[in-house]
Amino acid sequence: MKTDEEIIAIVDAEYDEVSGVYDVADLSMVIRLAREDERAQIRYEGQIVRVCHWTENEEAWSTSCDNYFIVLEGSPSQNEMRFCAYCGGELIEHRPAAIRERGKP
Ligand SMILES: [Zn+2]
Repeated sequence: MKTDEEIIAIVDAEYDEVSGVYDVADLSMVIRLAREDERAQIRYEGQIVRVCHWTENEEAWSTSCDNYFIVLEGSPSQNEMRFCAYCGGELIEHRPAAIRERGKP
């Protein structure tokens, strides 16, 4: 089931069926939309936004541009990281529930 916030995110993005690209009016929509649909092509102010998906594993975060990064404490967003250090894409975090639970004190 989707939260109200997710439903708003979908409504605020316009899908262009010809190009297969979502147009967003607000940059904050990029992260929400990309998290929902990892393959989404997202355009903001006429430019395709480069995104990079970071998934937490046992030891490190694996990136969709085929790299690994170790965050010593917390998540990339908790360390105010917004962009992938390798490809420069907007960083989209994915924390599998099992790993998230394990990290709790
Ligand atoms: Zn990357």
